[in-house]
Amino acid sequence: MDRIIERFKKYISIDTRSDENSNTSPSTPGQLELGSILVEELKDLGLEDAIQDENGYVYATLKSNMDKRVPTIGFISHLDTSPDLDGKCINPRIFIYEGGDIKLNEQYSITEKEFPFIKDVVGKEIITTDGTTLLGADDKAGISAIMDALEYLIKHPEIKHGDVKIGFTPDEEIGRGADLFDVNGFHADFAYTVDGGPIGELEYENFNAASVKIEIQGKNVHPGTAKNIMINSIRIAMEIESMLPVNEKPEYTEGYEGFYLLDEISGNVDHTVINYIIRDHCNKIFEKKKEDFRKIVEFLNDKYGNIITIEIEDSYYNMKEKIQPHMEIIELAKRSMIELGIDPIIQPIRGGTDGARLSYMGLPCPNIFTGGYNFHGRFEFIPTESMKLASQLIVKIIENNAK
Ligand SMILES: [Zn+2]
Repeated sequence: MDRIIERFKKYISIDTRSDENSNTSPSTPGQLELGSILVEELKDLGLEDAIQDENGYVYATLKSNMDKRVPTIGFISHLDTSPDLDGKCINPRIFIYEGGDIKLNEQYSITEKEFPFIKDVVGKEIITTDGTTLLGADDKAGISAIMDALEYLIKHPEIKHGDVKIGFTPDEEIGRGADLFDVNGFHADFAYTVDGGPIGELEYENFNAASVKIEIQGKNVHPGTAKNIMINSIRIAMEIESMLPVNEKPEYTEGYEGFYLLDEISGNVDHTVINYIIRDHCNKIFEKKKEDFRKIVEFLNDKYGNIITIEIEDSYYNMKEKIQPHMEIIELAKRSMIELGIDPIIQPIRGGTDGARLSYMGLPCPNIFTGGYNFHGRFEFIPTESMKLASQLIVKIIENNAK
């Protein structure tokens, strides 16, 4: 069996689900376990400075093998898997997919109807779960591709390269992967997260994101004698919702269209709390969406007499702003893909990435593919060829960067 598949099978057999309810870093011990295995493997490969820091982050350097100084590239993947489902995949199935529905077990199948894109991998060797766990290709395929690329470069010293930095981060799936990342210590000029989906994905645009909390203090009196007195805070919450653009909701938007999501509402006549999230790729529209919320609250406070408070907190920003001054790193990835016969698929992410936050922390960091599909659940699968291509792409980027 290929080394990369062996590695992948080893990594996915460790349960590294992150846990939002934990306050430690990493949030779960499985991530420490995988991290320390990777440190050993990196040292065995000859990356002597490989370490796991006190927060569970793994860092290592593949030292330059040339005299010329070239920009230092980093490659980053995350150790954790989604908390949504058991992450200890000890029975992956590896087979050539001949078409049709893929029966995972008695209960679950990857059907052509639900997942029409499986026709893209007919005739290819794929890895699926046995239906009881997630696969963990997100992001252990990324880790496997990076490790495989390092091994290849070490076995092929004739390929000249500059310093290459490796970072494996904990707790990406619960939004903390960038929190304690040591950008200064990492010492890379730019990096790529290897955390995307199907072959060709190259992403450097993501949402701007904010969360909104609105509290409404109503006035509750006996409904029989409520005339001109009662203020029903739930109805005011409904009024707020009705003042937002009807079509700018997740269920009606795609591509570059942003949205407001009514995420949570709880209350009674006396008191209601509503939580929204705001998302938009365009910085101006993002700011306007926040401003619109403030105007709605101002209007209703005039109408009902200062009974509504609003808090808006930014979560993350579109990395495009930080990548655009360095478009050569997108060109480098694109050119490397084309040389490998891969069509680059450049599309905006309708979410955030650790790379987006790292970009704002001073490390420009677009995202490249791992080759996987259907992340975060039992229907996850990956063609082995795609994982190998991700590894080859990493090598190619490193090689082209040195030219
Ligand atoms: Zn991921």
